[in-house]
Amino acid sequence: MTPNVEVQTISRTMPIQLGTPDRPLRVAIIGSGPGGFYAADALFNSGMNVKVAMFDRLPAPFGLVRYGVAPDHPKIKNVIKVYEKVAEKNGFSFLGNITIGKDLSVDELRTFYDAVIFACGSQTEKHMGIPGEDDPASHSATEFVAWYNGHPDFRTRAFDLSGESAVIIGLGNVAMDVARILSKSVDELKNTDIAQHALEVLSTSKIKEIHLVGRRGPVQAAFTPAELKEFGELNDCHPVVRPQDLEINAQSRVELDNPNRPAVKKNFELLTEYAAHGSSSQKQKRCYFHFLKSPVEFVCRDSLKKLILERTALKGEPGAQSAENTGIKEELKCDILFRSVGYRGVPIPGVPFDEKKGIFPNANGRIINDGKTVGGLYAAGWIKRGPSGVIGTNKADSAETVKNLLADMPQLKACEVPESKAVRALIEERKIQVIDFNSWKKIDAAEISRGQKSGKLREKFVTIEEMLQAARS
Ligand code: NAP
Repeated sequence: MTPNVEVQTISRTMPIQLGTPDRPLRVAIIGSGPGGFYAADALFNSGMNVKVAMFDRLPAPFGLVRYGVAPDHPKIKNVIKVYEKVAEKNGFSFLGNITIGKDLSVDELRTFYDAVIFACGSQTEKHMGIPGEDDPASHSATEFVAWYNGHPDFRTRAFDLSGESAVIIGLGNVAMDVARILSKSVDELKNTDIAQHALEVLSTSKIKEIHLVGRRGPVQAAFTPAELKEFGELNDCHPVVRPQDLEINAQSRVELDNPNRPAVKKNFELLTEYAAHGSSSQKQKRCYFHFLKSPVEFVCRDSLKKLILERTALKGEPGAQSAENTGIKEELKCDILFRSVGYRGVPIPGVPFDEKKGIFPNANGRIINDGKTVGGLYAAGWIKRGPSGVIGTNKADSAETVKNLLADMPQLKACEVPESKAVRALIEERKIQVIDFNSWKKIDAAEISRGQKSGKLREKFVTIEEMLQAARS
């Protein structure tokens, strides 16, 4: 027996100890948004020897922080500095411009990594299921947000802002973002990192009335006080709330008085303030807050587009009240409709998917199929729990997933090819330009420099080809 053969025999029979200097734990993270970066951070802080390869289908990292956070909220994007620190950690690599499920299959990934954490977010929107929802004048908030944020997949979307009335369905923070972008003047947006194509369209906007429509009451609104407060501070738009909409039922009063939910009380105070101001103002635009109205149909048969709404009444216990239609209908002029009723995830071949919830089914981050854990596959962020919470919510969420992954380490099947070079070689064989973190920094610098020329924080590249070109230069 030659010494070489002996070594191989030993390595086959000895269990491989993952997380050691000799054999670091190899984890692929799919998605480079908050869920992905907090998962990477938790892995590096675990005290184990780890190698983290973070994949993203786009050449640019940071997911929803780059393409979801509103351009006029630059402070929220400061969290990128935290993610950059993670990217500097020894053992971290970024592999941008690679779509898992297309460029590399999940099975292939598992050849190179001991575990895979999916942190790919919720990339599409929920539907309302009403007639007219698919009319060209009806858009999802997801599309609009991605368009004004310069997402390459959405840059060619067209939004006709030549009418006077825009209606947004939903009272979450995404609806608030959409309403605020429509309400702001060009002066309020021009120095942000808003995509130039969006700024140009918004500068010709004729929208004067923005209607935010919620199916439940002011106490159940999902927006947060900081976002609501901004409507009282806009240069050219005045918030309008009808005083009678603030007459709430006994169950809502209990919800309002819940000391554990101070945001609800703050929202109500702000809405009361807006109601007291009335609707008259020198400002050109109005943003109307509607409560207890549910969309029934978007009618676009002639040049006059309108939304049919049905009045609702709240039913149920405090904290669990739902909206029930009352049969009383009303109409709202609606030249352009935005549906902002929540996001949902999209499936990846080779990973179980819960169609109803739009997430990867999981038990505290461990991906499950028919109730059983699928070894080695994990979920973090919105694809794990659904589209809820703020950016920081993902920190504890990803930490929980990583804690369970580390607890599973003794049972994890060690990957067959623990070689980062082998992954790169396979990708390059497929003629795909990988964007690593240094290449991304080149793109980043080029965008900032483009922005400086026009007094903006950055001017994003809005095509993949431009980004790849900047990385090559
Ligand atoms: P969201 O907070 O879940 O709000 C969804 C809204 O849509 C709710 O008002 C909901 O009403 C309504 N809705 C759902 N289905 C409906 C239907 N069929 N008809 C009418 N209305 C319907 O979702 P989101 O606004 O997309 O935000 C997602 C997450 O991102 C949230 O956690 C949000 O706070 C976060 N976010 C944060 C910021 C920020 O911090 N600045 C910015 C953007 C997003 P019901 O309550 O009645 O279901």
